[in-house]
Amino acid sequence: MAYKISDECISCGACAAECPVGAITEGDGKYVIDADTCIDCGACAGTCPVDAPVAE
Ligand code: SF4
Ligand code: SF4
Repeated sequence: MAYKISDECISCGACAAECPVGAITEGDGKYVIDADTCIDCGACAGTCPVDAPVAE
């Protein structure tokens, strides 16, 4: 299980600053989560202004 960032992302960077394991990086047009690093804590979802990170 890991979180994934949807196309709703506006690349604000807030989630990357909150991720405790550094799993989030800026990608092409949106931020992306490394599924192998994500510990499923949900901090990114709680920080995102547009609810782009979703649990899979
Ligand atoms: Fe990082 Fe937690 Fe979001 Fe996973 S769920 S990307 S560990 S903030
Ligand atoms: Fe994208 Fe939301 Fe992360 Fe901002 S907080 S970079 S909108 S996923």
